[in-house]
Amino acid sequence: MLNKHPKALDYKAIRIAGIEGKRYDISIRDGRFTSVKETVPEEPAGQAGYSGEWLPEGEPGQREPAQPAGADIPQADLWISPGIIDLHTHLAWTDFDHADQLKRSSSEVEAMQGAAFGATLRTGVTTARDAGGITPQTIRHLVRSYGHPLRVETSSEMLGPADALGTKFLEGRLAEIYATGAGWVKIMATGGLGAPAEKVLDPVFSEEEFDFIVRHAHAHQIKVLVHTWGGVTIDWSIRAGVESIEHGMFLTADQAGRLAESRTAYVSTASIYRIAADPSGVLALPQVICDRAARAAEAHSRAIGYARSAGVRFGFGTDYATPALHGYNLQELDTLLDYGLTRAEAWQSATSGAAEILGRGHDLGRIAEGYLADAVIWNVDPFQARSADVLRESIVSVITGESEAELAGGR
Ligand SMILES: [Zn+2]
Repeated sequence: MLNKHPKALDYKAIRIAGIEGKRYDISIRDGRFTSVKETVPEEPAGQAGYSGEWLPEGEPGQREPAQPAGADIPQADLWISPGIIDLHTHLAWTDFDHADQLKRSSSEVEAMQGAAFGATLRTGVTTARDAGGITPQTIRHLVRSYGHPLRVETSSEMLGPADALGTKFLEGRLAEIYATGAGWVKIMATGGLGAPAEKVLDPVFSEEEFDFIVRHAHAHQIKVLVHTWGGVTIDWSIRAGVESIEHGMFLTADQAGRLAESRTAYVSTASIYRIAADPSGVLALPQVICDRAARAAEAHSRAIGYARSAGVRFGFGTDYATPALHGYNLQELDTLLDYGLTRAEAWQSATSGAAEILGRGHDLGRIAEGYLADAVIWNVDPFQARSADVLRESIVSVITGESEAELAGGR
């Protein structure tokens, strides 16, 4: 169930995911948490200090009436967590291979994009950063027309190999990206699954071009995310002060130390490589791609280990881009746990930590007074759930602090 911009919603004695042994009374008004207070335990029945004078003796039918129905939802066995923030999605893509998307009609593509917004929200992701392929205009259209109030930050069209034509050319491309209203610029700094192993860490841009993009973006208050599998472009990213690096499976221990020092975020998007490595999995890719993905996945667990011991800021991201994956975003938590993060670390990377990476640490990613009421209500303890499948089935409702109109403008 989706609960959009609730006017008034109250929970009594609900548990907050990750906080042991406490219950909370939580109020939401106009889409924000207005009160989050630890529940005061009621005195056990029969031990009331005031001797029950107001209870007419011998007339049990005349007790105080129960709370008016509907005033509060019974929440004895519910947990609340902040809405999940996925820092790396591709909501506009419908196929692994872009050539396949081009074969679809525009109305079919749009319907699939609308479905991706819905599936992402229903699994508890209330905010996404799109890492390439969707413009703010399309986001507003989808939010309004399909009724899915997913908050999406975007980089519009990413800068890749076709743009490595010098700084003059890049200046024009950057102006086009800013004109769309994007808040981010995405740099494809290395190859990916399409590149052979011996070439995948080769820089796509010259160092001069790379520095130019970052400097230009920052001078225009635009943030920068960098796709890099590893190698020298991680060093460039740290030195230039980008906001986040993505994937980074060939990160070294030395780079992890400098990444931590610079406070650059690391969005590893680890689960997609395990999925891509499985020839019989949902992506069903050719064997040569599966082999590259398997090599990446193997390196990822090491890179995440280095990053964790160095104290790098982790950001949760999935890189999910097809109908078989949208809505399964919580699988990334399983992979992060498998690769050594604690539950608290994995959840922080997907909530308060991710909000800080977006520069929204002051109003997103926490169950706290004054914060936007983006939240998920669960009927199991999310910190005990065995797997993402259990988590998915335990969602009672997803609450979005903002309505479609607030996210996408009135018209
Ligand atoms: Zn991506």
